[in-house]
Amino acid sequence: SAAMKNALHRRSFLLRDQQQAWQESVEGEKMLEFRKGLPAYKEKDSLLTAISENQVVVVSGETGCGKTTQLPQYILESEIVAARGAGCSIICTQPRRISAMAVSERVAAERGEKLGESVGYKVRLEGIRGKDTRLLFCTTGILLRRLLVDRNLKGVTHVIVDEIHERGMNEDFLLIVLKELLPRRPELRLILMSATLNAELFSSYFGGAPMIHIPGFTYPVRTHFLENILETTGYRLTPGNQIDDYGQDKLWKMQKQSMKKKKSQIASVVEDTLQAADFRGYSVWTRDSLSCWNPDSIGWDDINALKDKLQANFLLGDPRRVLLLACHGSMASSEQRLIFDKPEDGVRKIVLATNMAETSITINDVVFVVDCGKAKETSYDALNNTPCLLPSWVSKAAARQRRGRAGRVQSGECYHLYPKCVYEAFADYQLPELLRTPLQSLCLQIKSLQFGSISEFLSMALQSPEVLSVDNAVEYLKVIGALDDKENLTALGRYLAILPMEPKLGKMLIFGAIFKCVDPILTVVAGLSVRDPFLMPFDKKDNAKLNLSHIMHEQENVLKFLAPFQLAESAKLQFSRQGYSDHIALIRAYNGWKDIENEKSRYEYCHTNFLSAQTLKAIDSLRKQFFFQLKGTGLIDEDQTTSNAWSHDEHLIRAVTCAGLYPGVCSVVNKKKYVSLKTLEDVNAGEQKIPYPWLVFNEKVKVNSVFLRDSTAISDSLALLFGGNVSRGELNGHLKMFGGYLEFFMNPSLAETYLRLKGELDELIQE
Ligand code: ADP
Ligand code: MG
Repeated sequence: SAAMKNALHRRSFLLRDQQQAWQESVEGEKMLEFRKGLPAYKEKDSLLTAISENQVVVVSGETGCGKTTQLPQYILESEIVAARGAGCSIICTQPRRISAMAVSERVAAERGEKLGESVGYKVRLEGIRGKDTRLLFCTTGILLRRLLVDRNLKGVTHVIVDEIHERGMNEDFLLIVLKELLPRRPELRLILMSATLNAELFSSYFGGAPMIHIPGFTYPVRTHFLENILETTGYRLTPGNQIDDYGQDKLWKMQKQSMKKKKSQIASVVEDTLQAADFRGYSVWTRDSLSCWNPDSIGWDDINALKDKLQANFLLGDPRRVLLLACHGSMASSEQRLIFDKPEDGVRKIVLATNMAETSITINDVVFVVDCGKAKETSYDALNNTPCLLPSWVSKAAARQRRGRAGRVQSGECYHLYPKCVYEAFADYQLPELLRTPLQSLCLQIKSLQFGSISEFLSMALQSPEVLSVDNAVEYLKVIGALDDKENLTALGRYLAILPMEPKLGKMLIFGAIFKCVDPILTVVAGLSVRDPFLMPFDKKDNAKLNLSHIMHEQENVLKFLAPFQLAESAKLQFSRQGYSDHIALIRAYNGWKDIENEKSRYEYCHTNFLSAQTLKAIDSLRKQFFFQLKGTGLIDEDQTTSNAWSHDEHLIRAVTCAGLYPGVCSVVNKKKYVSLKTLEDVNAGEQKIPYPWLVFNEKVKVNSVFLRDSTAISDSLALLFGGNVSRGELNGHLKMFGGYLEFFMNPSLAETYLRLKGELDELIQE
């Protein structure tokens, strides 16, 4: 209407005045000066022209050249200058929440505003934006979620997909969706941004979209490979390494051996060099640079462990002259800010970083980079339908990228802790996530977005996943009741698509709601989403003696209550006593913590019970969010008492856990071996006798051998009643039907609940 148009106009002019006022202010001018110095500025006009003339543009440029902070801003500014500001809506996606937050804050500051004015952000579970927000930074997941309710992205004028070279599953998925959307929204602009140079791939995917490269300036970085580092100590690698013949394992072994032999030397060479140099900062790449000290370690704890080690041993000299910081995904944003700060004079900043600092975060004053060449990568073994979590070599592109983090403000040095020939054997680019992860959530989303046949849809991807992976995922969704035989979304499936967690966790929550034990199930689901709060008593052990499987057991929480290691003193056993369940142990530990009022006693509780206070807090806050999301489904009462009528019943909790985790079921064959239903695969689970015939588990992980992670022992009857369509045959003769039922109905509370709610449940699933 005319009135609305008028209002829009007025707002646009207001925005223009505001922008102009800021740019003319003293601080604004200073900021503008800085921004004009960035490489992207020189390309500003050609970028804007290309965007206005083409529906899709691919932009590449070295990290730090100004893609993320500048390009969306150029678009916003030019819209505002043209007095169209109030009508534009720019969405810029980031693969990680931490970068969405950091970048939006930076852009707001560059515009002389607070977050939530023209610039905002939205990540899962939090966000800051206002009614005037025209430029929104969000995670890819958030945009996908929006597409769920708003297929055509109504009102959105520009979509910028950042860091596309990372090829996360969500990003690849989003590209298919956008490709399908573009013809229906000819005005919509799509900009793809990436740090590395495989722009052609994306350009040709979008029918030859124009590519713009932002040439960047970096200072030279001297590169040292392992042999160079070792040579300084007079050590040489075995001559003529025939790398072509080496598989990854061999490469790794080789690195390990050379490390072992010259471990102290390498560590000290790197240290000495870094010590001697009079520079302020360097960055150590972990998520495996720890390999410098302990080549076997993997996992997110690496950084903290390395940090402790460096601190404890004064490896870096006078602690007053060193600012040692960690940088990883689960870090709080207040902590995060520290890594950007300049240290005081005479203090050296050291940042221990995960992959995260590879592209999405720019720490300007890095001069040295130590690159371990590894990243922890999830992969997926479609044949065995098993996810794997292994440290693997990064790609050439990633190694280059890491190297490039030095030399941003002056010339720098990069120490690759692997031989040149190993580098030569790296893949050019990392395998896209779509080709190496289970596809269940993705398939559910495809269905709820009504994209028709899953396999047809996925065949439109930049690189399509294996048929077997797709089949496995579809089969899984059928088994858990999210899809019917004809691959249509069931009522349960529709609920699962709304909930932001993995389908199995969503299903567990829904069952928790129906069976009125919401609180404990929220704890389980949040715990499985965050990480295990049980810490392992590392200091009680001789670190050097730990081998990979120990570490897997300890760090990845593999059936701890059954683990064959001397964890008797571990507090987890106490919590799981008689429970035969990681999940029940988690609930008990969390409840114990929650019941304590004051912070100091909570700390003591954590300390004596080997619990991570930080993780418990994270679980606590995620629980709240999940609660609201569950409430959003309309499946629970406002009244907490009603929704928790059966929360005290651990038997029922076991049942609901089973409902969620099925078909992740293993049979306890004898006291040593557990065999999964489908593959009859041996699963290492320790020696302890379990008085139950089955285990439901959260994850089966392949590391050398197969491990179960987070499991609960269940009876025949629970497997039968809650474990989906378990037929007698499948239960492999173990299910004594009659006896099982009898036992089941001996527990009056469960029987009553079950009978009373069975109707309700069927109704939900049938709709
Ligand atoms: P790209 O996306 O191309 O990697 P960015 O747009 O993220 O680059 O960053 C461009 C430049 O802006 C960086 O080189 C840095 O100088 C500056 N910058 C980015 N974020 C911040 C920040 N939080 N604080 C200070 N300067 C920043
Ligand atoms: Mg960027």
